[in-house]
Amino acid sequence: MQREASPAEGRPSRGAATRTRARAVAVVRRLREAGHQALFAGGCVRDELLRIDPGDYDIATSAPASVVQQIFPRTVPVGVQFGVVLVLHEGEPFQVATFRRDGAYVDHRHPVSVEFSDARHDAERRDFTINGMFLDPETDEVIDYVGGRADLAAGVIRAIGNPYARFDEDRLRLLRAVRFAARFRWGIEPATFAAITKLAPSVTGIAWERIGDEIVKILTEGRARRGFELLADCGLLEVVLPEITALQGVEQSPDHHPEGDVFTHTLLCLEKLEVGRHDEVLALAVLLHDVAKPSCAERRPDGRITFHGHCERGAPVAEEICLRLRRSRDTADRVAWLVENHLRHVQARQMRVATLKRFLGQRGIEELLELTRIDTLSASGDLSAYEFCVAKRGELLSTEVLPEPLLRGKDLIALGHSPGPLFRQILERAFDAQLEGEITTPEAARAWLRERYPAPDGGAPA
Ligand code: ATP
Ligand code: MG
Repeated sequence: MQREASPAEGRPSRGAATRTRARAVAVVRRLREAGHQALFAGGCVRDELLRIDPGDYDIATSAPASVVQQIFPRTVPVGVQFGVVLVLHEGEPFQVATFRRDGAYVDHRHPVSVEFSDARHDAERRDFTINGMFLDPETDEVIDYVGGRADLAAGVIRAIGNPYARFDEDRLRLLRAVRFAARFRWGIEPATFAAITKLAPSVTGIAWERIGDEIVKILTEGRARRGFELLADCGLLEVVLPEITALQGVEQSPDHHPEGDVFTHTLLCLEKLEVGRHDEVLALAVLLHDVAKPSCAERRPDGRITFHGHCERGAPVAEEICLRLRRSRDTADRVAWLVENHLRHVQARQMRVATLKRFLGQRGIEELLELTRIDTLSASGDLSAYEFCVAKRGELLSTEVLPEPLLRGKDLIALGHSPGPLFRQILERAFDAQLEGEITTPEAARAWLRERYPAPDGGAPA
């Protein structure tokens, strides 16, 4: 099976990673000096074996939470009932958790009880074999009760124990399996995959916030295309994002879209997402930009297929999906705006100067242009409109994209106008004239106003 290490972007720098590790080792030593067992556990062991800097170090110990709280001066009791304490060492947080075995799960999310136990049981309660190993950081010995090393060498995601039972306990693991398989470009072991497929319809039994967090991780941790192919293959996509499955088989005209149907196009877009470069908002916009195409598809008499209105119709759908995935209001608004405007650049070359300046001066324009670049490269590949916008924006940035208005509301009031619809219209027209270069000084602006709108009581423009 193919194996490839995860890209290092978005991870801490080498120096910072080395310091973090040294602090984690110090926490382990302190626990051992107090007579307890302590080991690196889970994801950090996996990452170190893959020679990736771990995002964080988790420590598993035989010490009960109350003892951990006594040993370290600065702790946060994040989940004492589960034996989990956050230890702050030299200002950095480390999760320290007592070895435990989980009791039965009643709600497919949390065990009803936990029993503090030993390292072997603690490995067995974890999700996948690659995540179930410990490392003794003082001897570099890997402690592997679950066959994690072999699966890591082969590039396999395998549930620990009975896959069906493990996914049934906590449905989030269904999405985590896909996320790790995509991130490392590994395969999912057949019995594990079969269990995911069987339990996929029940994934909504967990909080949408957890689902949303995993989906965003799949979108932003690298290899989003592979992640979404796997989600589709095992049936999770249909349950979590049926609007994306609905893009399958939606044909497009080959002249604009030689790549194929809307789903294929969306996958090609996802393939272009880069770790560290593209954030949650852009990734969601890339995923959702064509979400309204199925409802806007129309075949013309000449056989061409059009999707008029899909940008405008897609915006509220994208917003609703973001909110369903429990993203923030700001994220939902920005994604909806990106979806709504994702084809506007096509008209850029025909825009009046003022319109172009307004377009290129908007908040979010860089993200919008990045979305259009990804969208175009995944279709016709003709980047001329995008490049025109980038070049124009560069020119405008060397001056000022949107200057301060030379004529403001207070000037209008001073000249006897009163606030109202016409008032706003005058200000907009004055700003347009300024952007077009017709008005260049405050004096010229006032002269323009007197000439065009002489009557303070709101006479019609000349
Ligand atoms: P990442 O690199 O994304 O942080 P991770 O595997 O470290 O991946 P964490 O959420 O940090 O994920 O969890 C740390 C460890 O806790 C995992 O490696 C795994 O051993 C265990 N774990 C986390 N979530 C679950 C879960 N839902 N079920 C069982 N074990 C879990
Ligand atoms: Mg982790």
